[in-house]
Amino acid sequence: MRPRTQRARAFAPDPDAPGVGCDVPGCEAAGEYRAPRSRRALREWRWFCLEHVRAYNAAWDYYRGMSPGQIEAELRADLSWQRPTWPLGRLGGADWRRSGGLEEPLAELAGRAKQARRAETAPADLREHLAALDLGWPVTLVALKARYKELAKRHHPDANGGDAGAEARFKVINLAYATLRTRVARDSPLPAE
Ligand SMILES: [Zn+2]
Repeated sequence: MRPRTQRARAFAPDPDAPGVGCDVPGCEAAGEYRAPRSRRALREWRWFCLEHVRAYNAAWDYYRGMSPGQIEAELRADLSWQRPTWPLGRLGGADWRRSGGLEEPLAELAGRAKQARRAETAPADLREHLAALDLGWPVTLVALKARYKELAKRHHPDANGGDAGAEARFKVINLAYATLRTRVARDSPLPAE
């Protein structure tokens, strides 16, 4: 019955943190927040910085209830606009169980952290859209249009047999493009090409 205290504690660094770095590859922050290692090891901890423990927990919720195949499809759809990072089937069966199930989402988070750093100079409300199109900032209208054309073609539902993941991705791409097109025309410090 003391919500304010509980809330403050939830975001305070864990006093039992072992003094290691954040577990996300490439993150230099201290690992002061804990998260369960896997569904099968709920009392073994991994240590993250605040930003990444939030992302880790969000990924955990997001992938809960999906089969390994569904998660793989999800991640591949996401990563295929960058580059494939693991061969098809890697997340299936035994590999999934051995990895504890969250290693691959974590690799994806590391990729996102990199993109986020690159887009740091962008207006805050555009960063997510830039990340969705894997673009840095500033960006020219010409580069934006070229990337959109490429991604829209690749992720168009007609080109993916009505796959639900592709359809969701297509919507994200369209929203990102529509938002960025307007703002880039107005705000980008780069001259039009
Ligand atoms: Zn971190």
